[in-house]
Amino acid sequence: MLKGRELAAFRKQLLAWFCQFRRDLPWRRTRDPYCVWLSEIMLQQTRVAAVIPYYERFLKRFPNLHALAAAPEEEVLRLWSGLGYYSRARNLHKAAKEMVVEYGGEFPSRLKNVLALPGIGSYTAAAVLSIAFEQKHAVLDGNVARALARLGAIRGDLRESARWQKLQKSADAYLESKAPGDWNQAMMELGATLCSPKSPQCLLCPVAQFCEGRKLGIADLLPEKRKKRAAVEIHLVAAVFADGSGRTLLLPPPNKRNTEAAADDVPTLVSNLWHFPTIPTNANPIAKLREHLRGLHIQSRNGSFHFAPADKVRHAVTYREITVEPFRVSVKKLPRIKGAEQVPLSEITVLPVSNLTRKVARAALAVAPFVKKADSSTLRSSE
Ligand code: SF4
Repeated sequence: MLKGRELAAFRKQLLAWFCQFRRDLPWRRTRDPYCVWLSEIMLQQTRVAAVIPYYERFLKRFPNLHALAAAPEEEVLRLWSGLGYYSRARNLHKAAKEMVVEYGGEFPSRLKNVLALPGIGSYTAAAVLSIAFEQKHAVLDGNVARALARLGAIRGDLRESARWQKLQKSADAYLESKAPGDWNQAMMELGATLCSPKSPQCLLCPVAQFCEGRKLGIADLLPEKRKKRAAVEIHLVAAVFADGSGRTLLLPPPNKRNTEAAADDVPTLVSNLWHFPTIPTNANPIAKLREHLRGLHIQSRNGSFHFAPADKVRHAVTYREITVEPFRVSVKKLPRIKGAEQVPLSEITVLPVSNLTRKVARAALAVAPFVKKADSSTLRSSE
């Protein structure tokens, strides 16, 4: 662990580099805690380039906590649609409401109060409080942990509790207390740019002289790989209805969320958002789909549905590897189902939908609407 003069030089060099080379990101042009919070939540598990348009659109619609708290959840989810990990948006909305009720629409400045808000853990709390309020809390996320592990040549799984605590101690000890906001951003920037997961750019690094991992020639071997959870393959089949004017049918999110759902729970796989009629399948997807549509009381008016297969859709979420077989079902009139909505197939994002549902829509759009396929795909709903 660096101390004394070495630590002072380390801080000075890293801050000078950050000052000169920091990326110009929209959330760095403000110290408004609402904006800092929003950006930190959006950036979780998501690349900067993907976040920027969402961040700008979100702020335009919800410029402050009051606007966000007053909005219906469905609109918040719609603006989040495509960014993934939708519990972030739900918690953001809940937290905004809480802040309006508890703190008059101001972001609280006490750590205890911030940590009590939905969706805010120690990393996000430290980031907002240091950047917006210049409080002395050191951040520790995956990027910062990787840089610290290399600087201190720390081996092993960084997410193991004792090792994570050790890294937090290093982060706390290195924090520049005169500029905690800039310091935290400098550490994040180092981890996100030069000290990247593969091939760290040590020749350009402003703190290379302090790096034990580099001295030992093991920088690119750190952090050591975590044991991965075995992947689970999931097969689904989906019906994408389309009428003559290109409208389709989406089912609503479930009323209640299943917190202990099986790996192939459809509402969980579509992020508890609007989705096409979908069901897990095994050997006979069409028979399974037919059974599912019957269960939803979807009947063809003339006795049969024509199922046109679209290209399979593949999607990965954490340990799940999902394959969907979409079938486009062309109909004169869309079936009526309680709670379902009819929207243009080419614009399903008028409702909040997951990336998986978007991919299914794209695959179905590529299918010629009224081409007759083999008899095996034509099913009688009355069978
Ligand atoms: S010298 Fe290399 S490994 Fe060490 S902190 Fe800098 S970029 Fe990371």
